[in-house]
Amino acid sequence: MSDPRERYFDNAATTPLDPRVLEAMLPWLSEDFGNANSIHSPGLHAYAAVERAREKVAAAIGAEDPSEIVFTSGATEANNWVLAAFPGGWVSPVEHSSIWEQIGPRGLSSGHEIPETGFVSMMAVNNETGGVYGRPRAEKVHVDATQAIGKLPFSVEGADFVSFSAHKFHGPKGVGALFARGAEFPAPLLFGGEQESGYRAGTLNVPAIVGMGEAIEIAHSVCEGSMTRAMALEDAVREELEPLSDWHRNGNGMDPLRDATGGFSPGNLPSPFIVSLSFLGIEGETLVVEMDRRGYAISSGAACSSRSTEPSHVLTALGYPSEWLRGTIRISFGRFNGVDETVEMARTLRECVRSLRRLGG
Ligand code: PMP
Repeated sequence: MSDPRERYFDNAATTPLDPRVLEAMLPWLSEDFGNANSIHSPGLHAYAAVERAREKVAAAIGAEDPSEIVFTSGATEANNWVLAAFPGGWVSPVEHSSIWEQIGPRGLSSGHEIPETGFVSMMAVNNETGGVYGRPRAEKVHVDATQAIGKLPFSVEGADFVSFSAHKFHGPKGVGALFARGAEFPAPLLFGGEQESGYRAGTLNVPAIVGMGEAIEIAHSVCEGSMTRAMALEDAVREELEPLSDWHRNGNGMDPLRDATGGFSPGNLPSPFIVSLSFLGIEGETLVVEMDRRGYAISSGAACSSRSTEPSHVLTALGYPSEWLRGTIRISFGRFNGVDETVEMARTLRECVRSLRRLGG
């Protein structure tokens, strides 16, 4: 039986847990069960583990001080927390739904002109296209770095707030963090206990936080190698698809926002971890189902919206023609993908595209 992680190409949706992360978490799910806010020994033990994790997270993203990190339930919460504090701010048209869906409720604005004043939210790497964005020059800058941290070289430089989630870099689900420069966090979203310096009430999820610390430390230490590997996998996909007609890789062009912010990847290329492809004359969902039947997990877009049949607001904002938009799929790599399985997956993809085109989509 082959390792299912090797045939899983949807790492932008979530990644499998690194076994070393699981190992680090296990004691905190069994014998080390203390509440990190208790003042007895089990509590102090848990508190110390949380603070070690905070130091690891701060170090990996280049924060000056661990107090600039508050643990949350993930990037969705971190994004909601920041935007709640800046009603009337501006968010880019390619943001993740956890930002995009707040436009109406919070009276935010969007568009292709990035304001130089006020609050601006501009993601680091787009979860659908892999498009890489630089930092805008506004008064307050928020960066959703969920698809960048633990994958590409990343620093909080030029950002006042940064959101991210552990499960995107082989850590556990349901834990993430918000970085705030100078520990100037927005007013709390959750009220209750005095956890997280009073910024985020609720008993700390110690096992998940420990896991996040371990996962980010590992990801940071292997970042260069895993990026080079992702580039090799990306090349392998491209090579296998070469004989096909009428397809293209998204995320590297047709994007006025990238021109305005300047990417921070070499040559302004999209992230090698996210390969968004459009095939003319095919339905993306049909391709995803067909690939699944053959044992490969890929995606037709963002996992949170891939059950919807509405065209993606991201690809629409980037001006993709609808006949291309319909045939879009996303392949995303993680540390468990190897070259051989990737070549096989891309060959299967090529066969599926051919047979679906013969059948008329
Ligand atoms: N932002 C981006 C760019 C994402 O890709 C995701 C996850 N798909 C999120 C935010 C939300 O992360 P979570 O579901 O872990 O809260």
